[in-house]
Amino acid sequence: MMTIRSLISALVLAALCGCSQSDRLQQVLADGELTVVSRNSPTTYYLDKDGAAGFEHDLAQLLAEELGVNLRMETAYSLDGIFRRLQREEADVAAAGLTLTDDRSQRFSHSIAYATMVPRVVYRTGNRRPDGLDDLGELQLVVLAGSSHEQTLKVMAEEDRPELRWEAVQGADTMELLERVDNGSADLAVIDSSEFRMQQSLYPMLEVAFDLGPEREMVWYLPPGRKYHSLRRRMDGFLTQLQGDGRLDRLREQYFGHTTVLSRIGSHTFARNIRNKLPAYRDLIRQVADEYQLDWHLLAAVSYQESHWEPEATSPTGVRGMMMLTQLTAKELGVRDRLDPLQSLRGGARYLKDLRRRLPRDIHEPDRTWMALAAYNIGLAHLEDARVLTERMGGDPHLWSDVMAHLPLLQKREHYRTTRYGYARGGEAMHFVQNIRHYYSILQWQDIPANQPGQPLNPDDYLPLALREKRFLAL
Ligand code: GLU
Repeated sequence: MMTIRSLISALVLAALCGCSQSDRLQQVLADGELTVVSRNSPTTYYLDKDGAAGFEHDLAQLLAEELGVNLRMETAYSLDGIFRRLQREEADVAAAGLTLTDDRSQRFSHSIAYATMVPRVVYRTGNRRPDGLDDLGELQLVVLAGSSHEQTLKVMAEEDRPELRWEAVQGADTMELLERVDNGSADLAVIDSSEFRMQQSLYPMLEVAFDLGPEREMVWYLPPGRKYHSLRRRMDGFLTQLQGDGRLDRLREQYFGHTTVLSRIGSHTFARNIRNKLPAYRDLIRQVADEYQLDWHLLAAVSYQESHWEPEATSPTGVRGMMMLTQLTAKELGVRDRLDPLQSLRGGARYLKDLRRRLPRDIHEPDRTWMALAAYNIGLAHLEDARVLTERMGGDPHLWSDVMAHLPLLQKREHYRTTRYGYARGGEAMHFVQNIRHYYSILQWQDIPANQPGQPLNPDDYLPLALREKRFLAL
């Protein structure tokens, strides 16, 4: 119990600290740090090869930059966990793809909306597709515990659908729900349209049955109380500005505008490019490969996978040049002009070589090169996670074929939640390496003079699949 004396000293202390204690924005500016709580998922926050990424992370990073402070990003493992942290004022902002609801807005402060989405009910094609909530019958519906969707269902059940049943799944992201519908342990799941769009390519059998309601707004939440007013005002101003100058649209496009299905370039296109584009860069690629003691066919294959030998290539995510380096990687590698093919090739070659060197000693060639390529795409940390998963599941973490088979598991929640670095686009990394191996083997093969056909190159003719596969193994 508080004695009168301790009460008085607490009051005196509070008075002495003055407005810096009562205004969180001032405190954030003075401490130089903004704490944001999110959840580890592909639509919010995850680590990729250049570090932290995700729509919410990038948005929060921009806010921190605007305030001139460091961003401290934390992860909660359930939606309730996110709100608990806000309640205890352990975080300044919750940025986690959170829907604006009446219930939440009574308990917390929030920003203006920075995105909208529609709650969708998804099912597995081939199974019965209900038309709406009145058509559920015996179908089993799952939602994320503590989510806006659960709240919507509760209200509906109270108001006019007492028969409505669902299961609330504990966790922080919707992959678990999708997995359940995909493997048949649930029939339907409620999930935000933005998340479903992003994850649909992983679950091609899942489709939308119907929408659970109209479009909803996505907001950032803050702890309740006056103390957070000026921070919220500053955030709103920042989001309005981002909306006005197009930066918000660009960020949205980067993360949600396209699903990252890797396009497999047809052999014919590749053959045409070997003929038409490669000659202009062959000497340059050879020169750089020599400098770094790499097989030039390998460097040529990587640069083809990255940019199709286009020195001016640019992707919507801001990677550029022949080797598609990010700004950060380029900086670390001392590349000043990413569009200069020589600099770009040198940067990429150095990066690849460095990754190969840093892999554990007991990974031998050729697996060592394939794993270095995977790390080139996804980062060493996630590759290590995939190797740990491989070993745990009875595979050999020294073999690319085993590790490759486990890479896509980094996209599945039941697996990535057990890893050190969390979600990663492992499937993409796997295709990246396999494509490069494919190009590499063709480039090597067609470079042997005896194999040079007199007529235009057509890999389908000169390199039958069986032979190609055999060469993969032999490399
Ligand atoms: N937007 C949801 C919420 O705020 C979470 C994500 C989902 O369940 O799809 O609760």
